[in-house]
Amino acid sequence: MSINLSEQDIQKIIQSVMKNVEEALGQPPQETKEVVGAASPIKPIKMKTINHAESKTDGSLNQEQQKPMIFPGMLTPLGSKPGTHAGNKTVASVQSGSENGVFENMEDAINAGYKAQQIYVKNYSMKNREHILTAIREAVIKEKEILAKMVFEETKIGRLEDKIAKHELAAKTPGTEDLKTDACSGDAGLTIVEQAPYGLIGAITPVTNPTETIINNTIAMLAAGNGVVFNVHPSSKKSSAYVVNLINNAIKEAGGPENLVSMVKNPTMDTIQTLIESPKVKLLVGTGGPGLVKTLLQSGKKAIGAGAGNPPVIIDDTADIEHAAKSIVLGASFDNNILCIAEKEVFVIDSVADDLIFHLLNNGAYMLSPNELAQIERFVLEENKENKAFGCSLNNKREYHVAKEWIGKDAGAILAQIGVKASSDIRLLICEVDFDHPLVQLEQMMPILPIVRVTDIDEAIELAVKAEHGNRHTAVIHSKNVDHMTKFARAIETTIFVQNASSLAGVGYGGEGHTTMTIAGPTGEGITSPRTYTRQRRSVLANGGFRIIG
Ligand code: NAD
Repeated sequence: MSINLSEQDIQKIIQSVMKNVEEALGQPPQETKEVVGAASPIKPIKMKTINHAESKTDGSLNQEQQKPMIFPGMLTPLGSKPGTHAGNKTVASVQSGSENGVFENMEDAINAGYKAQQIYVKNYSMKNREHILTAIREAVIKEKEILAKMVFEETKIGRLEDKIAKHELAAKTPGTEDLKTDACSGDAGLTIVEQAPYGLIGAITPVTNPTETIINNTIAMLAAGNGVVFNVHPSSKKSSAYVVNLINNAIKEAGGPENLVSMVKNPTMDTIQTLIESPKVKLLVGTGGPGLVKTLLQSGKKAIGAGAGNPPVIIDDTADIEHAAKSIVLGASFDNNILCIAEKEVFVIDSVADDLIFHLLNNGAYMLSPNELAQIERFVLEENKENKAFGCSLNNKREYHVAKEWIGKDAGAILAQIGVKASSDIRLLICEVDFDHPLVQLEQMMPILPIVRVTDIDEAIELAVKAEHGNRHTAVIHSKNVDHMTKFARAIETTIFVQNASSLAGVGYGGEGHTTMTIAGPTGEGITSPRTYTRQRRSVLANGGFRIIG
């Protein structure tokens, strides 16, 4: 028989059962509070499920109803918030703090993240995780313009409209659907291999995609059941703190634990060291330049390194030259070339070089004269002091690095510095240079694209491989000759190899496949996704157990 009980009656029943259970367990009754969008850290929680339909008419409970349930969230119906029940009621005691993910010191960020992850992994189902990820994605999309503007104003690099697109892209990071269980069965029984979380991950982010990397890493790491503590680039700490707050609010509103994503407010090399040394941090993930990757790989801990690139693009004499030019302008000028995947130098077969330049100029590029290039080199390149060439010494080869203050600046601003007023349509500066030019050899991260003429595909491949410097990051070719494409792909061995599209297609922007902001070339994980942030765990049921075929 089923009866209708009022909300008050149900609450009374729950309170009385909780009291009985706690007395039976020999513990003092605790103050309880209904969890709605549960804030945490949650103290050890006792939850009760009351099935309204089967309650007795006198308000007492049947035998089944009196059994205590100790695992909050575990029986949460699909699609509803963890810690709440659609048809049933759950009760839990909760505590909350006020940092919202951003901590004054790294130890506190780690401790809070660790505690949150323990709650997350034990109490939240796959469906609950997905519910939280949806909330994060929605919050990011809702605030994509605000986030883009904050990053733009704080870092002063890149292009605002492209940063909005990058936030949209980061929000598309895959979720729990990326996790797969492998199974094999045979005469000896059944074995499954599941993808389990590492625990708390320490992640270090770059200034070039600061909030975008936090969003991308968070979605992928949380999908896999981890928590994450960030050490962000100091030049992006304000916008990073904003997005960490935003993400934590979204998590809490979706019923998730507090501080599941945390960071230190003022990141330094010392805070990175604390992260590296903490026994609570089980995996390190670094997105940035070679110094960062080297540091993490020396840590003695499992590390995933996403390092620098210097992507070459080849155009051969079979290519659709107009399409190639449009793709190159898009990729090389997107966010003013600060992306690690962006086209950074061109190798074009001489017979089609003029045609390519013609179409580049028709699609937003400006050709620098040798004199203009010489003037620009004076401020965008700085000579390395330690290897400075002296007149009468044997060392007469000058070496350069990129001037930091010009990274990610607009093509128009670079031209203005030499007194050239360009139309606002100009997104990219191009110049013809030799292979040895520093703009070919360095990862310039500014919208100046050097073009090198070559005689044939073999020379193009040879020089492109040299210019990539073994980063094994990204390479692009425009060609209709499958042999050329295959030869280049085999020679350069990059993580991303794009054919007949802009480099952006390699991260799912105008190309198929999922996106990432962490391309782990040096350590081999490639286009990272939730499964990258998992440990494989095997469970074996032996002696022929659970096998249907006898
Ligand atoms: P960066 O290396 O200067 O800084 C990245 C992060 O590492 C920052 O948080 C910084 O504080 C930290 N860091 C720097 N040197 C370190 C060291 N020696 N030890 C420990 N931590 C260190 O890089 P950036 O200027 O912020 O970003 C641009 C670089 O990142 C480019 O080289 C670009 O190619 C690369 N990047 C790579 C990817 C990828 O997915 N592979 C993505 C974005 C950027």
